[in-house]
Amino acid sequence: MNFRQFNLNPQIEAGIQALGYTTPTPIQLKSIPAILQGKDVMGLAQTGTGKTAAFVLPIMQHLMNGTRKRTRALIIAPTRELAEQIHESINELGRATKLKSVTVYGGVNKNPQISKLREGAEIVVACPGRLLDLMDQGVADLSGIEVLVLDEADRMFDMGFLPDIRKIIKRVPENRQTLLFSATMPTDIRHLAKEVLHDPVILRV
Ligand code: AMP
Repeated sequence: MNFRQFNLNPQIEAGIQALGYTTPTPIQLKSIPAILQGKDVMGLAQTGTGKTAAFVLPIMQHLMNGTRKRTRALIIAPTRELAEQIHESINELGRATKLKSVTVYGGVNKNPQISKLREGAEIVVACPGRLLDLMDQGVADLSGIEVLVLDEADRMFDMGFLPDIRKIIKRVPENRQTLLFSATMPTDIRHLAKEVLHDPVILRV
């Protein structure tokens, strides 16, 4: 098993090679084809399983076609550390693609985030609070979102972000693809999944 089987764009293949990935991890084997087919996915996976590339690779493949600079993918994460990690994975795996990613999170000056959003990026990786703030300011435009990822959903719930997440989701187009990743599946996350996922493929690793 190697990454060739997914028929990814050569520029994405180059990123995979540059990082030295040779064999897809179990979550990647299952999620990449499902996401490429446009399915909603609920992934029960811990950190360390390769789950970031499991959604980043097919999302980049999707974004290689179509409009540039417009924000088309939104990844929501519970902490700025995780948001930065995802952003770095996008930059590394996508180094040959020219796709742009911007991080949006609180606790730091807004202005650099605002400038980068204004310059245009296909992917926004955000924590909920600051994202809502920038949406209210009219800086973050989510009207063109085609893919939404909720990463570490159980941690976002533990941190009290569910009301914010619901507010954000209401402002993202309904005919999007949604991917929800969580290490555990408490009742509240199951309810959220029911609300936001349409006929999902459920993956456990
Ligand atoms: P994650 O679970 O996304 O936090 O990834 C855990 C670590 O595994 C990261 O350092 C990734 O760079 C690495 N990784 C992800 N996919 C692969 C792969 N297919 N082969 C080797 N390493 C990988």
